[in-house]
Amino acid sequence: MLKEPESMDDCVYFTNRILEDGKGSIKCWVLRNKCPKCGKGIMAKPKDPKTGHFKIRSEEYVCPECKYTVNKDEYGETLMASIKYVCPKCSHSGEIEVPFKRKSVSRLNEEKGKKETVKALPFECAKCKNKMLVTQKMK
Ligand SMILES: [Zn+2]
Ligand SMILES: [Zn+2]
Repeated sequence: MLKEPESMDDCVYFTNRILEDGKGSIKCWVLRNKCPKCGKGIMAKPKDPKTGHFKIRSEEYVCPECKYTVNKDEYGETLMASIKYVCPKCSHSGEIEVPFKRKSVSRLNEEKGKKETVKALPFECAKCKNKMLVTQKMK
């Protein structure tokens, strides 16, 4: 069983959507990582001491407990995406965990009738191997 987030604050990324034909659905989330050094703090962007807000443009993530710091790319390498899905082809409902690495994939835009390239997290249905995408943007 995948660990579901308790709140949005636990997530680097969260999406819950019904697929186009209304038959399938995808719920995908990426939990914040715990500090690899002390195992207590949750890695987060540093806070601006003046405003108390996270510096969202920071290239670094910091452990609030021990101040261990990693750069954004290194942090991104370690993230895992948890996905719960209902396959629109075979109605299988499953769970899968994949590295949180978006790839450029080309797919057919049915509205426009032409191919387009989107950044997405691809995964397969465990039962029928139907390829599904967690796209970055949904209309
Ligand atoms: Zn730490
Ligand atoms: Zn399937």
